[in-house]
Amino acid sequence: MTQRVYNFSAGPAVLPESVLATAQRELMALPGAGASILEISHRSKTFREIIEAAEANLRTLLAIGDEYAVLFLQGGSRLQFSMIPMNLLTPERPSADYLLAGSWGKHAFKEAGKFGPIQIAWDGADSSYSRLPNTADLQLNSKAAYFHYTSNETIQGIQFATEPEVGDVPLVCDASSDFLHRPTPIDRYGLLYACAQKNAGPAGVTIVIVRKDLLDRSREDLPIYLNYKVQADAGSLMNTAPTFAIYIVRLVTEWLLHDIGGLENMYRQNQEKAQLLYDAIDNSGDFYQGHARLQDRSLMNVAFRLPADDLTGQFLAQAGDRGLTSLAGHRSVGGIRASIYNAMPQAGVEALRDFMLEFKESNG
Ligand SMILES: *Cc1c(COP(=O)(O)O)cnc(C)c1O
Repeated sequence: MTQRVYNFSAGPAVLPESVLATAQRELMALPGAGASILEISHRSKTFREIIEAAEANLRTLLAIGDEYAVLFLQGGSRLQFSMIPMNLLTPERPSADYLLAGSWGKHAFKEAGKFGPIQIAWDGADSSYSRLPNTADLQLNSKAAYFHYTSNETIQGIQFATEPEVGDVPLVCDASSDFLHRPTPIDRYGLLYACAQKNAGPAGVTIVIVRKDLLDRSREDLPIYLNYKVQADAGSLMNTAPTFAIYIVRLVTEWLLHDIGGLENMYRQNQEKAQLLYDAIDNSGDFYQGHARLQDRSLMNVAFRLPADDLTGQFLAQAGDRGLTSLAGHRSVGGIRASIYNAMPQAGVEALRDFMLEFKESNG
């Protein structure tokens, strides 16, 4: 078999090896079905058991109550940037508040502006999106239909440690890049969504957790696929669901439950992994410069710079020679970004940390 590298891709990203092994083993014929997950009906008993297990696992991991629907949709998080204002803005509440903490929050804001007079609750542009606001910094509109924020800004590597305080306005969160990385108080949210390809599975499915009372806002004249109420009533099977992607989400959530032992354990591992890299940055005497303010640093995406661009190129090339890949920062910020999602093993992070120390020794 081809040797696997340590893949620090921001997304689609590393998956647990045991999940890949199970998918490989079951690809020709699912136990009990005699056919591949790629070949069976989304309405078959076998698939219904798979989607129900995926949902049940998510409900257990995140302690999601019955007052929430769990949807499996297509179109990525980008389509949620449109579906959220289409479904949640109402004639009585035509506006929403958006917190702009980085690139993804800005994209979400721009898209929502097509559907109503959206307001900016806070914008981190003047710090190059390297820090997060305090509650007192937020410009809140008590008549807003909802408040939208991005819990982890994947490109800038900044992350909220707790939910922002926004009063009675429903809190809506793009959790694409830190979904399932720690326990999350779902009851604080009106809606929380995450494309799967960072922390929950492959590209092709997006998970939307929505409080059921908000489904009443979905207007009947919306395109049928884009209507949350239709999707919830149909159990995400209004049309052909992304069956393979949902199957992998079932395997990943099983891995979190049974191999990892739940999200408290996952959180502890994620904190330990991130600390290894942040210590290497902080103890490098300014050779490595982290992008984010210390208290806002992400446990998922570690973004930093080297003293010169040609050193960045050498860093990436030499890391690649050691099987440490996909470390280039996003084209909009440059530098290095190590994405260390749930499935990145501690050994991979240690290998990167060791390389960082050696590279600094030879070039610092
Ligand atoms: C990756 C990402 C997206 C975009 O997801 P798509 O599935 O490509 O639409 C949106 N928000 C955040 C925070 C992301 O990390």
